[in-house]
Amino acid sequence: TIWNLGSINADMIYDVPHLPGPGETLSANRLDRFLGGKGANMSVAAARAGARTAHIGAIGPDGRWALDRLTEYGVDTRHIEQAKVPTGHAIIAVDAQGENNIILFPGANHAISQDQLGQALSSAAQGDLLVMQNETSLQVEAAETGRKLGLTICYAAAPFQADAVLAVLPYLDFLILNEVEAEQLRAATGKSVTDLNIEHVIVTLGSKGARYYLRGTASNFPAHKVQAVDTTGAGDTFTGYVLAGMDHGMPMAQAITQANRAAALMVTRHGTADVIPDLKEVREARFD
Ligand code: ADP
Repeated sequence: TIWNLGSINADMIYDVPHLPGPGETLSANRLDRFLGGKGANMSVAAARAGARTAHIGAIGPDGRWALDRLTEYGVDTRHIEQAKVPTGHAIIAVDAQGENNIILFPGANHAISQDQLGQALSSAAQGDLLVMQNETSLQVEAAETGRKLGLTICYAAAPFQADAVLAVLPYLDFLILNEVEAEQLRAATGKSVTDLNIEHVIVTLGSKGARYYLRGTASNFPAHKVQAVDTTGAGDTFTGYVLAGMDHGMPMAQAITQANRAAALMVTRHGTADVIPDLKEVREARFD
């Protein structure tokens, strides 16, 4: 089982004629609401990859639809609490050229309670995976508890924020980050990822694929050549698939190979959690 202490967001996408300036009031032509948040995306990806995935998180009184959506995609939502603050959301303005600006409100993602976390993890079994990203409260508490329980501690260092990332680093069995975050981590620690003393590290390299470090020794996994139309959620899909592979006891190389396929498929699609491919699609996909 994968236990994912993760964010749940509503991505509210407003199509606007141009990005609003200071003091400007602007009518949007269209509004789409998608399920998002790195946590939710990873839970959906892991579940669609066939792993038993329990999400630990919080929504607000306005978040019932997000629960329904997660359930529909196969995620266990029993450990998602209802907080009094609004569901986390992103207000995303997109202009005719595709340029955007984003206001992010963490909302309920920062209201996950210690009680709730403890209760959820009390159902975890030794050898289960605990996954976190940097969009919720209680990451260090979860890592500490997870360690005591003998869980494999996995962390996506995104969005990168040095203090938060450094605080969980000592607990990790598996760290995943993109190239930019790897550079930010190097700047914050003065060490390259090979010197972190973490057993498994993956640096994703966008259209170049991913590099995997097993106790500091690197191997490369090239990406598939596809016509990319929207790269949002590619990293989360990749991570979810790697985690599912690990949870199934797959060799890491095989898990990464499958994750590259899933993420390649993902970048050919518009949208996030709602369009993450399932295992059957990933297996049947043909690439050049
Ligand atoms: P993030 O979205 O977190 O910044 P990356 O951009 O590194 O992460 O992408 C994550 C993964 O998505 C890559 O390792 C790769 O498998 C896949 N991917 C991303 N962009 C492309 C692309 N243009 N073509 C094929 N695969 C891609």
